[in-house]
Amino acid sequence: MAGIYIHIPYCKSKCIYCDFYSTPQVETMEQYVHSLLCEARLRHGEIEGEPVSTLYLGGGTPSVLPISLLSTLIEGMKEVFDLSNLEEFTIEVNPDDVTAASVKALVALGVNRVSMGVQSFNDGELQAINRRHSAQQAIDAVAAIKDAGITNVSIDLIYGLPGQSLNSWQRNVERAIGLDVQHISAYCLSYEPGTPLWAMRQLGRVVPVCPPGLSLTPQLQLLEFHALSGTRRCRPQLRRQHSSLQSLEHKGICHRPGQWRHCLCRGTSRVVGAL
Ligand code: SF4
Repeated sequence: MAGIYIHIPYCKSKCIYCDFYSTPQVETMEQYVHSLLCEARLRHGEIEGEPVSTLYLGGGTPSVLPISLLSTLIEGMKEVFDLSNLEEFTIEVNPDDVTAASVKALVALGVNRVSMGVQSFNDGELQAINRRHSAQQAIDAVAAIKDAGITNVSIDLIYGLPGQSLNSWQRNVERAIGLDVQHISAYCLSYEPGTPLWAMRQLGRVVPVCPPGLSLTPQLQLLEFHALSGTRRCRPQLRRQHSSLQSLEHKGICHRPGQWRHCLCRGTSRVVGAL
């Protein structure tokens, strides 16, 4: 069984901690999609005869692609690969792109799993890292996704945000668990050279909360506590992933790592799951 990852390197704005390549130049989207399909045709022999079981659109922010272009992409992929046995079709979304109509359109394209970057449920924390959405938009987005019939939802959180207290992180964890999603990923904020966040630290305007590396911070202990304690809301099927942005290469989680062998990404820099 094969899995295909397609990289969509567009973001409307830049989060201050992010050192991954992305561009706001939406005028190149159409050309990019056509280039992706050219690459797909050139590489279709890599999985000749192998059924494709997973398709993952990551970024960047794939949800900034207009539905018409997403449709062009998926229909074009169907002409190149046999997607009739697709078990899982994931798209990464930003909360501010999610509407009832957009999710309905995604479902019509075959999407059955959504991964959403929430990062925090505190508007002050979101603004501090230049996220484009509010906490309420994230909550509404999860509701819209579920209302559209998608039952496999993953959300990302970041801990160690500038000024974040342990209490605030606790509230974030509680609100994430309260959304009753299938997967929560938590990452420790990392300070990457060249990012605005890095510069702010150099200037003394922010002080890292988490120690470098993957040591068990109080924030992470708290997450463990919530997930494992019988006295808190805990669902056995909840899967957690503890990692740092640095170590994972990207916020994207490879849902089926063994199957992510084929990545399409014209002219972009960072890809997860490549051979
Ligand atoms: S963190 Fe995600 S949404 Fe923010 S700039 Fe980076 S790729 Fe774009």
